[in-house]
Amino acid sequence: MQQVSPKVGFVLLGCPKALVDSERILTQLRAEGYQIAPSYDDADLVIVNTCGFIEEAVRESLDAIGEALAENGKVIVTGCLGAKNNVVRKAHPRVLAVTGPHATEEVMRAVHQHLPRSHDPFTSLIPPQGVKLTPRHYAYLKIAEGCNHRCTFCIIPSMRGDLVSRPIGAVMQEAEHLVKAGVKELLVISQDTSAYGVDLKYRTGFWRGRPLKTCMTELARALGELGVWVRLHYVYPYPHVDEVVPQMAGGKLLPYLDVPFQHASQRILKLMKRPASAEDNLARIRRWREICPDITIRSTFIVGFPGETEAEFEDLLAFLEEADLDRVGCFAYSAVEGAAANALPAHVSEEVKQERRARFMRLQEKISGRRLKRKIGKILTVLVDETGADGAAARSSSDAPGIDGTVHVAPSPKVKPGEFVTVRVKRADAHDLWAEAV
Ligand code: SF4
Repeated sequence: MQQVSPKVGFVLLGCPKALVDSERILTQLRAEGYQIAPSYDDADLVIVNTCGFIEEAVRESLDAIGEALAENGKVIVTGCLGAKNNVVRKAHPRVLAVTGPHATEEVMRAVHQHLPRSHDPFTSLIPPQGVKLTPRHYAYLKIAEGCNHRCTFCIIPSMRGDLVSRPIGAVMQEAEHLVKAGVKELLVISQDTSAYGVDLKYRTGFWRGRPLKTCMTELARALGELGVWVRLHYVYPYPHVDEVVPQMAGGKLLPYLDVPFQHASQRILKLMKRPASAEDNLARIRRWREICPDITIRSTFIVGFPGETEAEFEDLLAFLEEADLDRVGCFAYSAVEGAAANALPAHVSEEVKQERRARFMRLQEKISGRRLKRKIGKILTVLVDETGADGAAARSSSDAPGIDGTVHVAPSPKVKPGEFVTVRVKRADAHDLWAEAV
């Protein structure tokens, strides 16, 4: 008699790091013969991978758990909010188990307990690159977990612990599997990519029988040999970041740096416990652009941090004007439970925070629009994400999936999903480009 495989539903909330955790759990589930159910009705049990970064994310995660309980009834909670076991248990005492982030083994133990696995040998035939939640042509490559910094607005270190880097040989092997499976763009992620290897004292590992030091520069160099796009995210502005920029200029790495600067006022940066000053950062940006004029710099900032004065906010606007960044995200400070910054004096009112955020974004729109306009008439290589009757949504080296802009390409037989195509830029606004295949 044929055995029926138990089915697990999966709800994913949160950032690319949570996505990679989900991929690990899904890969393990498939490896053990579980099926992934597309709806609550089809599932024998549901796993909810939560986010707990800001209050809004906590609310959204608690709502998702509530929905899964109402629709299915058997729910395991994992992810960042799961690290606050008591918050989840208080809101939803009926959940079967709660784990923190990066806890594939714990989640699997809970699954085994509440939904014993079947033993169909055929279902363990999963592809070597594992189960991917992203489209086939790009994938996130998580190189480390946790963080050694203690930024006062952030609770990630208390949830995910100190930095633990993956061995460089394992990271390279995963990257190679992904490329063999058709991935054309690798997005390197961690909490602090430039700190990769610090915890291992930059230990030497091996890939293709060759010694490689566990550090960002050597990893970037090795990834650059795979012949696909390699994009670096969450790069803390340490001086040694300068070492990867020549690789970008040489075409081995995408000329793209995602560097969270967070603020420009020296006093606020200190209150945030962020190293580096605004002047250092401006000098660094200038140097990067000298070495690699085509570099795209993305950053994120927080406005309305406790104690931020109007003058300090204006310093930030002046920095923004001078830094002339391509892509920028801006958050109004939100007090996350457990963050050290909550104890700081002189919290900024919600109204002022929102007003500052709007002013910040207005200025950045002008800057982004100005920078994108310079691309009109240029020839670019883009990677096509989707095609439809109206044309295609694609991305250039300046656009990371989900957070940056889109290159809208006019319909053409040359344009195929998951493939590179060469285009000429016709039009731009503050976020996106419009182009035609050449
Ligand atoms: S660098 Fe700061 S903001 Fe980023 S994860 Fe570490 S503590 Fe949090």
